[in-house]
Order: sequence, then structure tokens, then C-alpha cells
Amino acid sequence: MKTLATIGLAAAGAAGFLAWAVRGRSSAVFGPSVWRGPLDRRVLALTFDDGPSEGTPAILEVLSRYSVPATFFQVGANVDRLPEIARAVRDAGHEIGNHSYSHPLLCFRAPGFMADDLGRAQDAIRRHTGAVPVWFRAPFGVRWFGLGPVQRSLGLGGVMWTVIGYDWSLGAEEVVERILRRVSNGAILCLHDGRELRARPDTGATLEAVRRLVPKLLDQGYRFETISRLLCPTN
Ligand SMILES: [Zn+2]
Repeated sequence: MKTLATIGLAAAGAAGFLAWAVRGRSSAVFGPSVWRGPLDRRVLALTFDDGPSEGTPAILEVLSRYSVPATFFQVGANVDRLPEIARAVRDAGHEIGNHSYSHPLLCFRAPGFMADDLGRAQDAIRRHTGAVPVWFRAPFGVRWFGLGPVQRSLGLGGVMWTVIGYDWSLGAEEVVERILRRVSNGAILCLHDGRELRARPDTGATLEAVRRLVPKLLDQGYRFETISRLLCPTN
């Protein structure tokens, strides 16, 4: 017979599992998802979430200076607000991914809500940039029951990250140190060229971090690839 203590432990274990399933970078419980690329090539994927924003063009300029391709997980509402900047990302040769339309927390959401929100983002991105995303990054990295079939119906693979920069709260120097300490072959790096749905967000720390990081990582012998290239099995 189960005692209250073992029932309590089982409940705690189930809660722990659910927390990992929802938030864990390596969890694919709620849909196909990757969090890193191959370990045998000295390559990285630089990714940016929450754009486009007024801060995006300055980041594009740094990337273009070093001919570094990146992947931008755009928010549909921000694409509708700043279509020219969304298109400039695409025109510069970067990959565009789907980061939802309204940047909601997906936990406790019905599949119909998720299908509508992700589908609206897909439409906004296609309409304004011509790109059809094949990758989805969940807002706040939170996935939920029913997301898998929604992703599959839209042709979206899930992408988490190997290293996240906390660039929305840390200063540039701390972001750089954090990433340099954790970087490794095949790593997917997550930064932010916007701040959720905010207009004119302060992306100064992100910009400065990118300015310092890119030359350092190139000096360490890393090459940069888009997510599609990083994960392409024939590479
Ligand atoms: Zn986000």
C-alpha cells in the first residue's frame, strides 16, 4: 500500500518531469525539437528571437561586416509592425523562423489557440518577407500538450538552444562571458533582437555582445551557419 510519503514523492517526480517536458531545452515531449547541432564540426548557429525591432538593423550591420549568417525567430505582430525590417533580415540572406504571432506563454493553451497563433505568424512572415519558416522556437521556451501536431501541420520543427544569453537582463560583458564559457561544436546560441512585443526596445546589450562575440568566436575557429544548414544531415 502506498504511504502518503510515496504518493507525495511520485507527485513531486511527476511535477519535475512535467517542468522538464515543458521547459527543458532537450525535451521533445510536446513535439519534434532540437537543441544543438553536430559535435564533430566547428560550427555554431547564432539565433535571435523577438524581432524585428528598431534595434535589428544595427545587428544586421555587424553580421554583414563579418559575413556571418544567422537565424531570426520573428514574432508575427512585430513583423506586421515593422515589415521593412523583417524583409531586410531576409534580404541580407539570414534564415527566418517562427516565434509565434503574439508571444504568448503556451502552457494551458488549447491546440486551436496554438494553431491560430503560429499560423498567423507564418502568414505574416510569408506575406512580408517571402520566407516560409520551417523552424519554430516557443516563446519563453515553453511547450505544451497539443503543440506537436500543430507544428507538424505547419511544417515546423522545434528549435531550443544550447546556450542562452540572458541578454534581456544581463550587461553585454556578462552575456559575452556566459556564452564564451559554454560554447562548443554545434552549439545553438540564443540572443534577442527584440523584447517580446515592445516597440523601440533597448537592445543595446545584445548589439554590444554581438560586436564582441562574433570576432572572438571566429578567432577560435568557429564558422557560423543558419539552423537549416547546421542541422542538414548531408553537411
Ligand atoms: Zn521570445
